[in-house]
Amino acid sequence: MNGPEVMGARLVRRTLRLHRPVVTAHGPVGDREVLLLGLSDAEGNIGWGEAAPLPVFTPETVDEAGQAILDWLDDDRIQPPATPTARAAVDGALLHLAARAAGLPLHQHLDPHSPSSFAVSALVTGDSPEELVATARTAVDAGHRTVKVKVGALSFEVDLALVAALRDAVGPEVAIRLDANGAWDPDEAPGYLERLAGLGIEFVEDPVAGVEALAAVRTASPVPIAADETATSPEGVAAVLEAGAADIVVLKPSAVGGIVVAAELAAIARDAGLGVVVTSLLDGAVGVSHAAHLASAIGALHPAPGLGTSALVAEDVGTPPRLEGGFLLLSGEDGP
Ligand SMILES: [Mg+2]
Repeated sequence: MNGPEVMGARLVRRTLRLHRPVVTAHGPVGDREVLLLGLSDAEGNIGWGEAAPLPVFTPETVDEAGQAILDWLDDDRIQPPATPTARAAVDGALLHLAARAAGLPLHQHLDPHSPSSFAVSALVTGDSPEELVATARTAVDAGHRTVKVKVGALSFEVDLALVAALRDAVGPEVAIRLDANGAWDPDEAPGYLERLAGLGIEFVEDPVAGVEALAAVRTASPVPIAADETATSPEGVAAVLEAGAADIVVLKPSAVGGIVVAAELAAIARDAGLGVVVTSLLDGAVGVSHAAHLASAIGALHPAPGLGTSALVAEDVGTPPRLEGGFLLLSGEDGP
């Protein structure tokens, strides 16, 4: 695709502040620095992209991402930037600029027939099991039909009791998905999945760490397995497919290199018969918006995308897509 003609560029560093850290088996994810790239054309349209490096998920620091973007600008924008979050910012800004020049929301620029709203899952967190269950109930009352919970930071017995309480609280119709962030012991995981199966779990993301361990666990698992942390690069997705390590691939456009790369990986995964869930990188409004427009454009809407995360952000870098009744509403206005 021919890109728009870029006449100007600006790179801004911003702090993304969460209401509270999101606890994962890798430790808490809290406030962090992100970069916004604005590219403008001769008519004064501006397209925005975001680079939001996150340790474990992306190989680069925010300084390295910034340098990769500056190198891309200095190098007359010929080769894609060398790091994935920088590439996500660049591809996002170029596509957003092209969409703005065409007077279209990004998802319609990518696919004219794509929907402007769709259901998303809610990531529910809490300092205690009671609080977490209450938060989930609030999300379901607001209209969410899918909730996601982080497990693996505590003992399995505690997690199991929590998930059972959650199932009781939300009823049988709401999809519950779990994310262990690779924390479970490969020898224990099959037994854990067996015990969780009775609670009607939609899928478990990264029950164990590493492609081979995932593949081994999947052969015995009564619960579908999703690969996220092993699928944060094109090479990683290829390895997951080759090993038969997952039923579902979780794609974070902001981590794999942006909209273009994520769309290619989604097509490859679907061709291999896997489901695709598009999620955020707990990034800011621009990254979340681009991921949402991509999910719409490629029709990756079932299982529900994990794009309700802007509710966790206290101080964002712009206006995220509006979340209403468990649905994300896309427009040409979301962004910085
Ligand atoms: Mg995950």
